[in-house]
Amino acid sequence: MPVSATGPYDQGNIFAKILRGEIPCNKVFEDDFALAFHDIAPQAPVHVLVIPKGPYVSWADFSATATDAEIGGFVRAVGQVARDLGLEEPGYRLLANTGVHGNQVVPHLHVHIFGGRQFGAMLS
Ligand code: AMP
Repeated sequence: MPVSATGPYDQGNIFAKILRGEIPCNKVFEDDFALAFHDIAPQAPVHVLVIPKGPYVSWADFSATATDAEIGGFVRAVGQVARDLGLEEPGYRLLANTGVHGNQVVPHLHVHIFGGRQFGAMLS
């Protein structure tokens, strides 16, 4: 069920639980600003999610209310994860589903990194 991009932050969402260590994840990267882990239902040979450490519902929320340090740290983390995964040269795709029309399901900002094969049309 898609979620609002602007609703109040739900501390019970699954990525909040991962950040608090209440449920496990298959971690690939962590620093002060971001955590990255493999998607539980991968849709590409490489499918990793990068999430900010702060309580941001969506790209809309994060871009409007996060600090410059959080935004800079998060953007750098997304690039670092892709680099660490060896995706820079073959290339990769980023996706941040946002709100209902974006079909965002988990109400904590996450950027999908897809890689490992040639992708086709951007939208189906
Ligand atoms: P979105 O539609 O952008 O909100 O996508 C949410 C993503 O989170 C989906 O690709 C799910 O497979 C993924 N996901 C949900 N729960 C977990 C989890 N516990 N660990 C890793 N990925 C998850």
